Amino acid sequence: MAANQTARIGLQLPAGRIDLEVTAPDGDVPVDRVLPLARALADKVVELTVLEVESRGRSISCRAGCGACCRQLVPIGAAEARGLSELVASMPEPRRAEIRRRFDEALRRLDEAGVLADLHRRDAWDADDRRRVGLGYFDAGVACPFLEAESCSIHPDRPIACREYLVTSPAENCSHPTPEGIDAVKPPTSVWTAAARLEPPAPGSRSIPWTPLVLALQLAEAEPEPPTRPARTLVAELFRNISGSLQAADADRSA
Ligand code: SF4
Repeated sequence: MAANQTARIGLQLPAGRIDLEVTAPDGDVPVDRVLPLARALADKVVELTVLEVESRGRSISCRAGCGACCRQLVPIGAAEARGLSELVASMPEPRRAEIRRRFDEALRRLDEAGVLADLHRRDAWDADDRRRVGLGYFDAGVACPFLEAESCSIHPDRPIACREYLVTSPAENCSHPTPEGIDAVKPPTSVWTAAARLEPPAPGSRSIPWTPLVLALQLAEAEPEPPTRPARTLVAELFRNISGSLQAADADRSA
């Protein structure tokens, strides 16, 4: 079995510093093995972001039992799609069959609403498509297959984009979102994007390889074995992607 290597890594964010002890296997692994680290990082980034928001006298309105945002198009990386597929496969029956039925039903309803075909051609989207399809998806009112009693039934395993979605506007506004009614808090870096970038892009595509959560099971079943790379390279690249987006945000702020 490959030995593990441990290192301490620090990340300076506008709202504070994150110090983590990172353990990576000494060998080639798929991106999936780096996901726990990406999730831990996302949780820390969100924690600091919430503290920063609260220091300005505002508070995050997202609560358990409010699942309005769980009817949006949730972007995930291929490793997250594989993780969700494995999670569903590991569920005992009849829960596994019920979750699979909800995925099928969600896809049927998105097809009926004319959104599904757009989801399949996401590599060709421009900014207008992103807005249009995002709104069309929300208007279709299709709940995430993991949403139960308006709460996330896979909370510890939820995708990174779900962890990074925060609003300070009244929770009821999320049921009828408008640009004026939603005050979204954007963390200083997007860890889901940094993790998704670790996967090879689709041939001929220059965009970040991503998939809508609702297509996770399909994607995981259609894909061959994931490629592997040295774990240390993946960890270093994850941190590079995160610092790259922090620098870009800094440049935006000072522009
Ligand atoms: S995974 Fe959980 S938090 Fe994310 S959209 Fe689905 S129900 Fe909501």
